[in-house]
Amino acid sequence: MTDLSLAPDIRAARKLRPVINVSGTMTALGASIVVPEAVAAVAAILPEFVEINELHKIASPVIARLTGGEAGFVTASCSAGITLAVAGAMTGDDLAAIERLPDATGLKDEVIIQTGQVVSYGAPVDQGIRLAGAKAIYIGQATSCYPYHLDGAINERTAAAVFVVSHHTVQYGLIGLKQFAETCHARGVPVIVDAASEYDLRLFLEQGADVVLYSSHKFLGGPTGGIVAGSKSLVRSAFLQNRGIGRGMKVGKESILGTIAALEAWEKRDHAAIRATESGYLDLWQRTLAGRPGVATALEPDPTHNPLDRLRVTIDPQEAHITAWDLADALASGARPVIVRDHETEHGYFYMDPCNLHPGEAEIVAARLDEELSKARQSNEIIATPYEKRYAARIDKLLQWPD
Ligand SMILES: *Cc1c(COP(=O)(O)O)cnc(C)c1O
Repeated sequence: MTDLSLAPDIRAARKLRPVINVSGTMTALGASIVVPEAVAAVAAILPEFVEINELHKIASPVIARLTGGEAGFVTASCSAGITLAVAGAMTGDDLAAIERLPDATGLKDEVIIQTGQVVSYGAPVDQGIRLAGAKAIYIGQATSCYPYHLDGAINERTAAAVFVVSHHTVQYGLIGLKQFAETCHARGVPVIVDAASEYDLRLFLEQGADVVLYSSHKFLGGPTGGIVAGSKSLVRSAFLQNRGIGRGMKVGKESILGTIAALEAWEKRDHAAIRATESGYLDLWQRTLAGRPGVATALEPDPTHNPLDRLRVTIDPQEAHITAWDLADALASGARPVIVRDHETEHGYFYMDPCNLHPGEAEIVAARLDEELSKARQSNEIIATPYEKRYAARIDKLLQWPD
């Protein structure tokens, strides 16, 4: 196994800030800590040649074993998986049609999705559908959707329906997966489930998905990649897109083998021990924050029932002398930047996610919390950047890239 302790500090060498990730598996931060088994597999295969389609064939039974699907393959990302699975449902195994995409002339080209699930995971989920040349058909409203909406949208042009499982989606008032799949199947429509960030590798196929998609680089701790699993014929049709629009979503030998290694490691992982370690981190942070003026904490279970809790930190600016978002920004600055989960800071809170820490980092996080909260408390003025200004600054910065 690769001895990571001997690796040079590659971030320091490139002048990259040594961020500590208390945010979650974020693409913007490099996704996750890749497990040693996957690091070793990636390093071992990179200098060698392989017959790629043979390697893909080796991945299939491993993916099938873990997901309960009939077959599977690895692509560039879960996002790519959405596009390839949709394209496969449109073209089947017609190689000429596969080369014509995204021109969908003569093919079924409508793909149904509940409006309350049209989220952004960094890019819009429905763009993944449209990239295949399909039209996204939005059903229901943001916070309500009924089986009659679904049934009423299905017609002879319907190629597939996409169902998104994510904390980003509206969590009430929508059609659940079992009912969604029943309604689709009664009309012969396949169901593609985006479960990019979910721990349960079997549940969604059990609940009626025909194809399920996961990210290799999220909780699995694999290299960047996406896993497509499910019905053999649909998975094959999606795989064949590698001769068409899938080419730009190509995955290399290292990600295929690294994903296999991560899946095999996942089977052997001591999940209870990892949970216990994470609980220890949450406990440490909760103790660090206890009794501080204007700071309230609460443990919250993951909204989509992954086996994980996060610490919600609510800030009263009058007492703490800083807003939740200014505290998040202060923590993210300096020599040991700590990046918290700050999607909802306008409500006055952020979350701390314990899943992506190296040994010793939780203590640094605790020290940084103490440092920034003490500094704010000593400030005579309340540190309160207008929220809109913070938001606008992020977009401005993006538009300045690469400067
Ligand atoms: C992260 C995520 C994606 C994108 O996954 P990638 O593998 O990074 O492309 C898609 N859908 C959901 C719900 C996600 O959370």
